[in-house]
Order: sequence, then structure tokens, then C-alpha cells
Amino acid sequence: PAAVKINVRQALSFRNQRVKVPGWVHRLRVQGKDFMFIVLRDGTGILQCILADRLCHTFDAITLTLESTVMLYGVLNEVPEGKSAPGGHELIVDYWEIIAKAPGGSEAVTNKVNSESDPSVMYTQRHLVIRSDTHSATLKLRSYVLKAFRTHFDSIGYLEVTPPCLVQTMVEGGSTLFSLPYYGETAYLTQSSQLYLESCVPAMGSVYTISESYRAEKSNTRRHLSEYSHCEIEAGFIDFNDLLNIIENMICGVTDILLNDPVSAAFIKQLNPDFEAPQRPFMRMRYSDAIIWLNEHGIKREDGQDFEFGDDIPESPERLMTDTINRPIMLTHFPGPIKSFYMPKDKEDPRVTESVDLLMPNVGEIVGGSMRISNYIDMIAAFKSAGLAPENYYWYLDLSKYGAFPHGGLGLGIERFIAWIANRYTIRECCLYPRFPGRCQP
Ligand code: ATP
Ligand code: MG
Ligand code: MG
Ligand code: MG
Repeated sequence: PAAVKINVRQALSFRNQRVKVPGWVHRLRVQGKDFMFIVLRDGTGILQCILADRLCHTFDAITLTLESTVMLYGVLNEVPEGKSAPGGHELIVDYWEIIAKAPGGSEAVTNKVNSESDPSVMYTQRHLVIRSDTHSATLKLRSYVLKAFRTHFDSIGYLEVTPPCLVQTMVEGGSTLFSLPYYGETAYLTQSSQLYLESCVPAMGSVYTISESYRAEKSNTRRHLSEYSHCEIEAGFIDFNDLLNIIENMICGVTDILLNDPVSAAFIKQLNPDFEAPQRPFMRMRYSDAIIWLNEHGIKREDGQDFEFGDDIPESPERLMTDTINRPIMLTHFPGPIKSFYMPKDKEDPRVTESVDLLMPNVGEIVGGSMRISNYIDMIAAFKSAGLAPENYYWYLDLSKYGAFPHGGLGLGIERFIAWIANRYTIRECCLYPRFPGRCQP
């Protein structure tokens, strides 16, 4: 009988029918000379296929290699009881052909199978490594994560904008700027789209973007990339407490969307079997209490001294704290000097700002947010003390001149969110081709 061409995802609807399935030889097991298992991968899933007798005796069968491209024909059977197969069915192959043969025994293919290889090889060979079960699941989950953020913001009426990546302003300090020649001038790759989003609110209402941000991070860490996907929002006529609720709603809303979709829920289960949706309300802790917490737990600064009010809390003590408390923490009210220039002072305690970091177990900071200075005089003063020349920011300064309004926003690293929900060791696994010091390929 004729065979319908299907992909693995469609298998369920074609049970007991003769089909043909194109794909790649993901795993191969030869049992004697009359029996062969091919686990076929086609991007949509994997399918166990059985070749018996004369089908195993051909030259192509005997020399078949991993990652070769094949078309397999046969009837899709429900798997007999007591045997397990992905998806609950297997293909009893009655005819097959090779579309392209891969060289056997290559290191690249071994790396795909053995995801624990030397990390530098893992990154050089990432174009092949992403074919592995774990890495492909992470990238597929990423697609659902991006969609879930869009669904969430759409459901609360925020509009998506696409700000420029080539800019002449900095948002998070000059030390991590990538600069490039721009028609005889200097331009930078954007560190954050925040200033542009702020400019959109009077035009479009509350807005969000998921755009690339670039940071020339000097050190190699588990949670810094040179290029990352940055989900940023800006909302008008809110106060600091509203902002904290926006963050909590976003994390819980997106998590719910992912867990309610059987496909994304299955990826989370595969990658992070113990995952549980976070409990609301999130713990809220002031920066000054975090300093006390660190000292009470004997966690020291790099120079061996106790932490003091005003110190930046670096990645490693922050991680110790988050992993010990082991639930989301909204850390609030950081001192002005360790935060960005655009953050307003707290009305009750001018030593601190209306700022928040959301810390998650295993990753640490995944969100940075704050209210924004909305008063022209304060803004000029903030520029002065940050040592920023106002010329390139004339348009931004206009925002606090023409219709200043209370507003705030946040930035979330998509890769950090994925590292949290999928329990990955480093965010380098949570994007397609990670960029970090010394790596710009593939
Ligand atoms: P960190 O303290 O980890 O360096 P940050 O405070 O400099 O982060 P923000 O400027 O607050 O980062 O950016 C907002 C969010 O963007 C962060 O909470 C984080 O999720 C993400 N992010 C920042 N820098 C990076 C990076 N280099 N790679 C990946 N994600 C990042
Ligand atoms: Mg940083
Ligand atoms: Mg930070
Ligand atoms: Mg931050």
C-alpha cells in the first residue's frame, strides 16, 4: 500500500497505517545479523523503528552510521505491553532508503551522544551537540518560553515594540559597552532597551520587548553572556508596590502558561523533574536585611571582611543566599551608588532607591527592576553625578520635560529564566549559540 509522509509528532494519528518518515539516525542498535533498531529523530520527536531480516543484510544497513539521513517506510504499531518506546508506538520497517550518509565514528557525533564532553568541544561542536535529547529539549522549551512571555503581556494589554540595537547611549555603565564604527561616528550595541521603552509609554501605553542586549562582560560566569535575550517592560502610572506585583504576576503567569501546555510541561518534566511552580506571595527582603542575613550566616566579602551597608552583593554570596533560602526572593531598596543613574530615591529613606532584584534558586538575579526618575531637575542631577554627557540623551531628557509621569519597569534575562525553570547549570545552554569572552562561533 502507498505510504503517507508524516513526521514523528503525527504518529499517534497514523497508528496501524503504512507511513514513510524522513529523519536522522539518532541511535542505532544492531542485534545479531537479522535485527536492527533505529531511533529516528526528525526534530518533532523520536521514533523507534525496527528493521528485520533481509532489510538488515544490505550494504547500506551494515555500514549505516549515526546522523545519516534516511527515509523509513512501514506500518506504525502500537507497542506491545511490557515494551516501552517513545510515544508508545514503533515503526515496523518494510522498506527504507538512505538520503545522505554521514561519516562514521566522527568525534562530533560522539559528542552529540555524550553531552558530558569537554566544555570547549561542546561549544565548538554546538551545531551538532544541539541534536542531543537534552539540548534539543532546552531549545524547544525556549521557543515555548518566548511565546509564553508574549501571551502573558498580551493578556494584560501590553504592546510589543522593536527598539534599535545600534545606539549612542548607555544604560548600565560604560565598562560593558561594545562599540563599533558608525559612518564616521561611534555607536554601541545596546545594553538595554529601557530608555526607548520609556519613550513609548506616552505614545502606546504600557509596552514590552524581547530583544537582544549586549554586554562586554569581562569575566566568565555561569550566568553572563555577551549577547542575551532581554525581556523588558515599562509601565506608566504605577508605584513601587505595583511594580513588585507586576514581577510576581509575570513569573507566575508565564510559569502557569508553560505548565498548562502539555508540550512545554513535558519539556520541563524531562529537564527538571522536581520542578514546582513558585508559591505566592514571593518573599520580599530589603537590601539592608540581606546584608544582615549574610553576616548572620558568616558569609564574607572577597577581602574576608563582613558585608557592610553600601556593598554590592556579588554573584557568589547572592547565590549562597538564594540557594539557602531556596525560594524566590524580591530583594528591594538598594543604595543609590550601586544601582543605575535613573533610579529614584525612596521617599522614606533617601539612602536607598526604589529598586528590586528578583533572585531565583540555582541562578540568582533573573530580574532587575525599578521606578524611574520622572522629574526633570532630579534627572539632570542624576546625569551629572553619573558623569553622563546629556547631549546624546537629549531625547530621553525630553521625556521628563514633556509630560513627566510616574513609571517603572524591569528587565528579565530569558536565558536565566530558562536556566531556572529547566534547572540548567549555566545559561550558556539556554540559548542557541552562546557568546562569551573568547567565543563568537559557530
Ligand atoms: P548581574 O548582576 O548578574 O550582572 P545586572 O544587574 O547587571 O546582572 P541588569 O542590568 O539588571 O543586570 O539587567 C536585567 C536582567 O538582564 C538581569 O536581571 C539578568 O536577568 C539579565 N542579564 C543582565 N546581564 C546579563 C548577561 N550578561 N547575560 C545574560 N543575562 C543578563
Ligand atoms: Mg551586570
Ligand atoms: Mg545585578
Ligand atoms: Mg540588575
